[in-house]
Amino acid sequence: MYIRDHSLATSERRSSYLAASLQALDESLGGNLHVYEGDPVEILKKLSAQFGEVFATEEFTPRAFLRHEKLAQAKITLHQVGSPYAVSPGRVRKSDGTSYRVYTPFYKAWCAVGWRAPAELPEVQKWIAPPSTARNFPRITCHTPAAGEVAALTRWREFYKNDLARYDEERNRADLNSTSGLARHLRWGEIHPRTILAELNQSNAHEVFRKEIAWREFYADVLFHEPHTNLDYYKPEFAKMRYNEPGAAFKAWCQGKTGYPFVDAGMRQLNEEGWMHNRLRMVVASFLIKDLHLEWQHGARYFMEKLFDGDVASNSHGWQWTAGTGTDASPYYRVFNPIEQGKRFDPEGLYIKKYVPELAHLSAEEVHEPWLYLDGLSHGYPERIVDHATERHEALARLAELKPKS
Ligand SMILES: Cc1cc2nc3c(=O)[nH]c(=O)nc-3n(C[C@H](O)[C@H](O)[C@H](O)COP(=O)(O)OP(=O)(O)OC[C@H]3O[C@@H](n4cnc5c(N)ncnc54)[C@H](O)[C@@H]3O)c2cc1C
Repeated sequence: MYIRDHSLATSERRSSYLAASLQALDESLGGNLHVYEGDPVEILKKLSAQFGEVFATEEFTPRAFLRHEKLAQAKITLHQVGSPYAVSPGRVRKSDGTSYRVYTPFYKAWCAVGWRAPAELPEVQKWIAPPSTARNFPRITCHTPAAGEVAALTRWREFYKNDLARYDEERNRADLNSTSGLARHLRWGEIHPRTILAELNQSNAHEVFRKEIAWREFYADVLFHEPHTNLDYYKPEFAKMRYNEPGAAFKAWCQGKTGYPFVDAGMRQLNEEGWMHNRLRMVVASFLIKDLHLEWQHGARYFMEKLFDGDVASNSHGWQWTAGTGTDASPYYRVFNPIEQGKRFDPEGLYIKKYVPELAHLSAEEVHEPWLYLDGLSHGYPERIVDHATERHEALARLAELKPKS
């Protein structure tokens, strides 16, 4: 059964992906999936009256916490069993009972807590055929990548066979397409992290991959303890910093027309495919915050609109990590250089050329700084909207304003 909260504002991409995912689930259940749409409290009231007890997978978003409160006020009992995490948020604690604020010690404690083996399918499966009123599937209104459990398991097997053994060496290379692409499947519950973790061994590549799975769990844990940080600064002092208002520069960033090839390639990949490589997510986020001096929430909202894997915990905290306003131990003054990042993680410029065809005529050496060459901008690629070196200084000056004067 799936209950769609009618008050939930979601993007066209995520809503269409959900629709495709529910259709796949329905098929695997022989057309027996019940889908309701409306006020979850009202729907659960009726379901409790009809069935006596209702069981659900536990959710950990700020919105889910509000829903729990409303259910409690309405005296409706919802049995929450299992979670979409290997270790449920809130379970990994320090010896004094407090939560972790830094990833590395969290990771060690998370491993020590451990997780169960993946759940077995029940031998006998009994379904109640849904009435016609319980078939409120959302509509697919845009193209989506393959959705559903079969697609997720197929992708996991392919990645395991072809790329996982080199994950530690290649995962940062934007041009190699060597990451798992499992984020949307994990986000929508199409594969459980325990299914993945059960197959990992102690090799370095597998260990690095396990650590990435753990980042997702860490951010869910952080958001569980501080739900307001989906929108607010984790380090509140940064709310006082001087920021620009989003205007033409923000529009250029969204469209992938900043004049910085690596940044623009990332944004165009996001706009076209609804996915972006992790390295690029960091580079474009840093550019928005440190070069354009905009608040991270503007970028995070745009990501949520475009990503198929948009997830409130990983997104808000991925942004805050890059901004230096979140859980990261490394400070605000770390500023990604968009040119050097491109040279390092897309050395031949193949990723750039794929998404920015106006630069396809340039050599590997030229493509990262087209403004230095006579015909660099001759195919319609824009001038840089800001100068990175100047804006880096500006970001540091604004940071200095925050520090108490001695
Ligand atoms: C600014 C910013 C925003 C982000 N927004 C999201 C988001 O909305 N949804 C999302 O799932 N991830 C987000 N990430 C994390 C990461 O970029 C994506 O999970 C990853 O790029 C997805 O591609 P993949 O599945 O091929 O990853 P792989 O490299 O194959 O990693 C395997 C899995 O580990 C998890 N993972 C990997 N890196 C991270 C990370 N840094 N933080 C949390 N989980 C991680 C994901 O579930 C991923 O599918 C964001 C990162 C940044 C810097």
